Amino acid sequence: MKTLDASTNTLASPNASLPVPNTAQLDDRSVRARAESMAVLALGDGLYEVEAESGETYLVDLAAGRCTCPDHVFRGVRCKHVRRVAIEITEGRTPPPGQVAVPCVDCGDRVFLEADDPVVERDGPAYCDAHTIAPGDRVRDRETDGILTVIDVTDRRADAVRIRARQGATTVAEYPTNELYADDVPVVGAVYPHARVAANGPVPASLRVYVFPRTRLERVADR
Ligand SMILES: [Zn+2]
Ligand SMILES: [Zn+2]
Repeated sequence: MKTLDASTNTLASPNASLPVPNTAQLDDRSVRARAESMAVLALGDGLYEVEAESGETYLVDLAAGRCTCPDHVFRGVRCKHVRRVAIEITEGRTPPPGQVAVPCVDCGDRVFLEADDPVVERDGPAYCDAHTIAPGDRVRDRETDGILTVIDVTDRRADAVRIRARQGATTVAEYPTNELYADDVPVVGAVYPHARVAANGPVPASLRVYVFPRTRLERVADR
């Protein structure tokens, strides 16, 4: 009966300073936008929460060029927080408006997804490029260490897909060895042994398909 943690799981950029280009052309706010340690959290709608070096948190509206900090509110200037958000987007550290950053289930790396992506909306498992699986990929079963070849990655939930088991029909989620895995993750079909199956190619009838909760499988490098 487990489900993935429903608390918001978006991630800020690592709290750090950025290298300051060695040029005399930068004004003071642009230098501080880089040199000061900040973390930026994309909220998905063009709004960004910036944790400043002071420990204060400010809200930046990127399109409007606005910030809740005193420098913007009282002086009306393009403050270092607005500049920092723009720099981080340009450098790929922070998602552009409309996207948020969520952790890869397998490695924790930040993955940028559309804010209205189903994975984000229901806090489903997100995967970086290295851990995304597709038909033809080899995966390791975390329970048995067995190596399988993926033949199907569905968007059906583990508690909605029924399978036959020794004790009768059950769902993938309720199958005894799947108790550690969330009920609401997608189901993946895979085959033993790790015979290569071409993506979208026909599956030989002799290969029995086993189904797993997505999070039970981990992609293994091909080479
Ligand atoms: Zn500001
Ligand atoms: Zn990953």
